[in-house]
Amino acid sequence: ASPALELGGLSVTYRVRGRDLPVLSDVSLTIARGEAYGLVGESGSGKSTVALAVQRVLPPNGRISAGHASIAGKDVATLGAAALRQMRAHDVAMVFQDPGKALNPSLTIGRQIAEVFELLGASRSEALERGEAMLGRVRISDPSRVMASFPHQLSGGMQQRVVIAMALAKDPALLILDEPTTGLDATIEAEVLDLVDSLRQEFGAAVLFISHNLAAVASLCNRVGVLYAGKLVEEGPARALFSEPRHPYTAGLLRCLPRAGFKGGPALDNIPGFPPVPGSITAGCVFAPRCGLAEERCRTEAPPLSDVGPGRGSRCHFHDRVDALPRMSEAPPV
Ligand code: ATP
Ligand code: MG
Repeated sequence: ASPALELGGLSVTYRVRGRDLPVLSDVSLTIARGEAYGLVGESGSGKSTVALAVQRVLPPNGRISAGHASIAGKDVATLGAAALRQMRAHDVAMVFQDPGKALNPSLTIGRQIAEVFELLGASRSEALERGEAMLGRVRISDPSRVMASFPHQLSGGMQQRVVIAMALAKDPALLILDEPTTGLDATIEAEVLDLVDSLRQEFGAAVLFISHNLAAVASLCNRVGVLYAGKLVEEGPARALFSEPRHPYTAGLLRCLPRAGFKGGPALDNIPGFPPVPGSITAGCVFAPRCGLAEERCRTEAPPLSDVGPGRGSRCHFHDRVDALPRMSEAPPV
């Protein structure tokens, strides 16, 4: 079967005050069916833009300026309105950070989940039945009570389970989770991630998991892509990438993790300096201004994606010197 998601040289710009700012440049990645792919990077690196672009739901000032994206073999750029609706109804589902925003506060959970099945062609009574069964599949122990509840009567973790149930009701080829556990406490977060992992196996959906939390990515994902200033700077199997980073930025992210274990959550924002303003770096490597390995060449010549091991790539001229950077003192997360 065609991959769940395929991006080839995807570039996206946002138009701001008459200028097109490049926010994603030349991002290529493939997520096979049933695979869990983690996309990490600092705030503003373009993670959510990837999620929006592949579903063609960019804000009005955003556009795909080059490259292509296909979901389950369908090129999203060329789909007509009807085919696009069809794709959103069947092939891809998305779970956002704030489940409260995804749910309608004035309708019961039962009404909302039944609606998903009704849109897929079920009768009202069949839809209610299937909705309740779906809540059971996301390990909600008392589905009938939850069906009769309004969103505000449920905890954040319970709301997120409902949203995940509604997403999986479509039996999508691709499930996109954008920071789904930010704002939940650590125990609930672990439960939700564990749930996503078992549902991925049960439903066979591929997962694109967007997160600041490297520990969460390490526990859920088999492959990882590291985004920096709109470029995929490193990619590879989770275990190899976390234990032996081949890009100085990845090494920096790992070094930033709080000493007291990986459960600490977001810690990506304390590499010295700031990511560049979109469009401000026009020559050389986007990471050069913050990089401990940078030489003159890095400021003039953009590094290509080099093959740095089985299934691994790095956009660094000096990927073989990353080992020489100071290492973190703790064991890697996997
Ligand atoms: P976070 O971790 O904070 O969610 P992110 O990696 O998801 O960040 P994006 O939301 O994809 O990042 O944003 C990428 C860049 O595009 C940022 O510089 C952001 O300020 C900018 N941006 C996002 N949406 C728009 C918009 N509609 N118009 C202009 N710029 C935008
Ligand atoms: Mg985001």
